Amino acid sequence: MAIRDPQAYREGLRDNRRVFYRGEKIDDVTAFDEFADAIAHSALAYEISRTEPDLAVADDGDGPYTAFYRVPRTAADIADRGRLIETLSRMGAGTIVLKEVGSDALFALLRALSGDSLAKAEAYYRYCCENDVALAVAQTDVKGDRSLPPHRQPDPDHYLRIVDEDADSITVSGAKVHTSFSANADEIIVLPTRAMSEADRDWAVSFAIPVDTEGLTLYVSPYLHGDQHPFEHPISSRHKLLESLTVFDRVRVPKERVFLNREPELAGPLALAFVDYHRFTAVNYKLPVLDLLVGAAIGIAEANGIAGAGHVKTKLTELITYAETVRGFAELAAVRARNGGNGIHLPDPLAVNMAKYHFAHGFHQAAATLLDLAGGLVATGPGGHDWDDPEVRTVLEKYFAAARPAQERLRLIHLIGDLTTGQWGGYQSVLATHAEGSLEAEKMQIARAYDSTRARAAVDEVLRAAAETRGAGAELATTAGAAR
Ligand SMILES: Cc1cc2nc3c(=O)[nH]c(=O)nc-3n(C[C@H](O)[C@H](O)[C@H](O)COP(=O)(O)OP(=O)(O)OC[C@H]3O[C@@H](n4cnc5c(N)ncnc54)[C@H](O)[C@@H]3O)c2cc1C
Repeated sequence: MAIRDPQAYREGLRDNRRVFYRGEKIDDVTAFDEFADAIAHSALAYEISRTEPDLAVADDGDGPYTAFYRVPRTAADIADRGRLIETLSRMGAGTIVLKEVGSDALFALLRALSGDSLAKAEAYYRYCCENDVALAVAQTDVKGDRSLPPHRQPDPDHYLRIVDEDADSITVSGAKVHTSFSANADEIIVLPTRAMSEADRDWAVSFAIPVDTEGLTLYVSPYLHGDQHPFEHPISSRHKLLESLTVFDRVRVPKERVFLNREPELAGPLALAFVDYHRFTAVNYKLPVLDLLVGAAIGIAEANGIAGAGHVKTKLTELITYAETVRGFAELAAVRARNGGNGIHLPDPLAVNMAKYHFAHGFHQAAATLLDLAGGLVATGPGGHDWDDPEVRTVLEKYFAAARPAQERLRLIHLIGDLTTGQWGGYQSVLATHAEGSLEAEKMQIARAYDSTRARAAVDEVLRAAAETRGAGAELATTAGAAR
């Protein structure tokens, strides 16, 4: 078992990985300025082992390892995991950090697999704990025409597939997309993105490989390109992720790292096993974002001098209700956690998906409320360079003071801009809608997870009691007739 520090994590990223950014090949991701914030942000996942050891370090007798990789065996373990995810996200100002997604995938493999595949997943899990490995997860395929399954796509590479196999290895081609952390992780776990039929056998594949494996190329998104001034962008000047189009060009994977090899019947269960943990991660890392939305709304209402107005109190109450409902569902998911197979606990899927759906569904309205309270300065206000200039600052201090000094008010305005309208805000808006599954995916899971036994029994009970009451049927019919 091992705990690495941020420096060791950074050093581990210096290898032969093929990474492209804005048309340029990046030879050493750790020496490339544009990636520095993203790597520093991810390094928080290693920093937390030092700053919050009680929460972030586990030890089952074989020595310390990251608590992110502690397999949940009880509901209390799930609740602890929620706290760990929220704490790390708070360190990252509401931006997801690094180890959550990888551990979601590890737990899914350990829960959904059996026999020889499970033994391989267990060996890989031990390797990750022993080396404090930074993992990315590539589940989402580029998917081509959404109405077609993998085997009917005009281009078969639109879902990652097995193109060759020998005694020791499989060879895969195709592409995954939106892969967070890929450029600054040590390894990538590949999972199927959907349920598959027998005709999709070649696409039913799962494995793990180092990021510098031959044939693997990452095309990193230019999101948050350029320098951000910390006065103007209090979050995005320090916290960002790297996401990639992740292309596999005849990548050879040794069989000891292959967890699913042409087993379509397991594609859906494995995909869903990941989702069970991943949406729990999602709702917990989003809690600090919700606190920022509420805190900024209260702060700007006070700074603008409108906190006592009736409509403002109503809007703040609505925001609080939204945020605390998500928190309540996230906590409920841990309280109702249960054994999900192979002795591993999973958060309650109904509560998790309700939390995620409620978050995603209400996020844009919450942002609109915050913008409403903030006023137009979010778009037209002065920037960090204006504030840095002593002469201009004097003018800004005079004219942008309200119920609070200009500095406090402008800082809040820029925080609100970062949260809602800036690149980070735009990113959050897409993230809320799609990341960890789209709204429709959550609705499908809610419908699947809901046990209608109690609701049906309630109806049966009332109808049975009514039918057993002599004369009541006739009386009701008479009343209904009279009402018509
Ligand atoms: C910031 C960010 C980070 C992410 N990080 C990761 C990551 O680390 N790893 C990873 O694997 N994925 C990641 N994702 C991917 C995320 O899970 C997907 O964005 C999500 O599953 C939606 O898929 P999509 O983007 O392809 O959109 P689509 O699936 O194309 O969805 C667009 C619309 O089409 C609808 N739709 C899709 N298919 C059908 C269909 N068959 N029938 C009817 N309607 C349909 C959807 O409901 C939605 O309304 C990330 C996404 C974001 C935005």
